[in-house]
Amino acid sequence: MNVKEILNNLETRHPGEHEYLQAVREVLESIEEIYNQNPQYEAAKIIERLVEPDRIYTFRISWMDDAGNVQVNLGYRVQFNNAIGPYKGGIRLHPSVNLSILKFLGFEQIFKNALTTLPMGGGKGGSDFNPKGKSDNEIMRFCQAFMLELWRVIGPNTDVPAGDIGTGGREIGFMYGMYKKLQFENSGVFTGKGLNWGGSLIRPEATGFGATYFTKEMLDTKNDSFKGKIVTVSGFGNVAWGVALKVTELGGKVVTISGPDGYIYDEKGLDADKINYLLSLRASNNDIVSPYAEVFPEAKFYADRKPWEVPCDIAMPSAIQNELDEEDAKILIANGVKYIVEVSNMGCTPEAIELFHQNKLPFAPGKAANAGGVGVSGLEMSQNAMKMNWTKEEVDAKLHQIMSSIHSACSKYGTDHEGYIDYVKGANIAGFIKVADAMLDLGV
Ligand code: GLU
Repeated sequence: MNVKEILNNLETRHPGEHEYLQAVREVLESIEEIYNQNPQYEAAKIIERLVEPDRIYTFRISWMDDAGNVQVNLGYRVQFNNAIGPYKGGIRLHPSVNLSILKFLGFEQIFKNALTTLPMGGGKGGSDFNPKGKSDNEIMRFCQAFMLELWRVIGPNTDVPAGDIGTGGREIGFMYGMYKKLQFENSGVFTGKGLNWGGSLIRPEATGFGATYFTKEMLDTKNDSFKGKIVTVSGFGNVAWGVALKVTELGGKVVTISGPDGYIYDEKGLDADKINYLLSLRASNNDIVSPYAEVFPEAKFYADRKPWEVPCDIAMPSAIQNELDEEDAKILIANGVKYIVEVSNMGCTPEAIELFHQNKLPFAPGKAANAGGVGVSGLEMSQNAMKMNWTKEEVDAKLHQIMSSIHSACSKYGTDHEGYIDYVKGANIAGFIKVADAMLDLGV
């Protein structure tokens, strides 16, 4: 079957799974040429096998809130592909979570993890639980109830979860704590663990730092630098703060962050003190954007708006999928944006990406730019397996190396005859070849 027929079949088989079909379509369009040139892929039905997860677990989670009421949520783990290593990917806790979203995330994770150069397959999990407004005890009881089901299907050499939206160090602690009670072992089935119980230095900031190193590589190819650049960032979860810290360190100025309630514009830029203040607000399990504007008078709060209307040199969406659409892209381009770097997974809609490509703007997809998070997760797994820890400098140097090799892979497969790098194509082809060849080697 050719790529178009495979896509049509998939649409018929999984109607309504919009995010998942969007993610698959993007990859298949990029790799069509390579697929057509290599009949061994078609003979082994590599794409047909790659687009369906190995298996999906769905379960009910019952837990009790502080008022003594029973609450019910849905939980999932999508084990997508383990051709190059154990299933690996985070756990998303967000009211929007459904199977389509977790399948898109698990699918992206296969290629992202392949790009890190480390032996990790792709997976993803999560629940429609909403941590917003919950007490710490409620979050603990939910995480424990979630793990009462999940523990059966994960393991340090089979499936290694981590954080994602709504799951940070605290939630991983609660989940891993319950796992240890059930499984009597200490080999580190989670990554993103606390430093005192098996975590790696630099893991909390790895996604943001890695995306900034990747952006620096993009700037380098144009003999450009972060010095004096205005950067707009959305979100302020597990990744945006690492971006803000590193961009500021490299001489750029991050002027926005956002939440579900709107965005703040801080003309003076976010410095380390402001970032620390925001991190303390985050621990409250509530919206943090409008309180920030109350404390720092130079910051303006724009309710129910997105930060892409602020003129900038570099836009770094760092919140959630499809957060930057065609209209946003038009405004960014009209305001002179020079680089767009997805730090969120699939942060831009296909129409927005099309516009960036048409305008020959360097655009980095999440699976390349945000791979530093899972990259350092891989390094955490290595340290756990060796029962030792690397220093901050050692981990940071390896993260640098990982991001730089991903950039080289994107340029190798994505550069056109005019020297323009299509990072989407480059990342998809490099990731696909690695996974597809592993699948061929492993037999049917
Ligand atoms: N959730 C992160 C991602 O989207 C990290 C996954 C991990 O460390 O396993 O890549």
